[in-house]
Amino acid sequence: MNTIDHKLTLNNGKQMPIFGLGVFQSPRNETVAAVKAAIKQGYRLIDTAAIYENEREVGQAIKESGIKREELFVTTKLWLTDFGFDEAFDGYGTSLKKLGLDYVDLYLLHWPMPMHWEATLDAWNALIGLYNQGRIGSIGVSNFEPEMIERLIEAGSVVPAVNQVELHPYFQHKDLRDYHAKHGIVTQAWSPLGAVDVYGTRSTGRNIFDNDVVKDIAAAHNKTVAQVILRWHVQHNIAVIPKSVHESRITENSQITDFFLTHPEMYAIDKLNMGLRGGQIPYENQNGYGVQISKP
Ligand code: NAD
Repeated sequence: MNTIDHKLTLNNGKQMPIFGLGVFQSPRNETVAAVKAAIKQGYRLIDTAAIYENEREVGQAIKESGIKREELFVTTKLWLTDFGFDEAFDGYGTSLKKLGLDYVDLYLLHWPMPMHWEATLDAWNALIGLYNQGRIGSIGVSNFEPEMIERLIEAGSVVPAVNQVELHPYFQHKDLRDYHAKHGIVTQAWSPLGAVDVYGTRSTGRNIFDNDVVKDIAAAHNKTVAQVILRWHVQHNIAVIPKSVHESRITENSQITDFFLTHPEMYAIDKLNMGLRGGQIPYENQNGYGVQISKP
């Protein structure tokens, strides 16, 4: 097995695998098998969220995996409809119940709510409370820009351990990564393989899987485009959570330890950045929430 097992140290001293499985849009009836296949393959981090509506299946897979709980790193996220202090405590309780766990390793605020800042702040303070009670391994945020993180830190004096953001060769978020590095925040990439043309919200017809630079690098290493992109992330110390429900791809995505990208290859991929998002802009106004919301 050559699944990557490198860990990053978070700002509270805890360790988080740099590599894991994402389950956004994993249908419930395929999630148990996918998560079990991933764990069997050596994945130790699973990334879910209340809004993905598959926490129950993730929990079932963990239970059936035969791997000790403490060897796994489970992330889930508080959805916007549960922002607020008491609401966040309740939201965490509901997630734990669905997962069948008594703690998660990482709990994230899923999106900022710039137009509902008080609720965002109250939710963050609830996460701090849960963390101080020892009920969560680490706390962090997702889709936050530096000025929002600054406001959280000012209000609660706690620096998020992780910011999970859209990040792939066409959208490299270098300024944000530099900000994270300066403040000891781990960058975790969602849509590491490129959401462009997957979500279609900002589709331009460009798909990283068709990119000749990446295809040539992949051919030179006898690897796939997906493996080269994931390798590029981890060589930049960016945590990745590629999603698939297909066992062959789950295996393929994990096999990135037996080759290195050279400096010129890394630089060639760095140069592909186009600032091209596939997903939503966190601050874009949609009823003031930044994203469409509905109750999980
Ligand atoms: P991804 O980059 O993991 O996958 C994009 C697409 O590539 C998917 O359709 C997938 O099926 C496909 N794919 C996977 N492996 C492949 C391979 N080897 N070859 C070809 N195609 C392959 O994108 P994602 O699912 O959007 O993001 C990964 C994870 O990040 C999610 O599952 C979720 O856990 C998390 N996420 C978080 C947020 C957030 O707001 N925090 C948003 C989106 C996703």
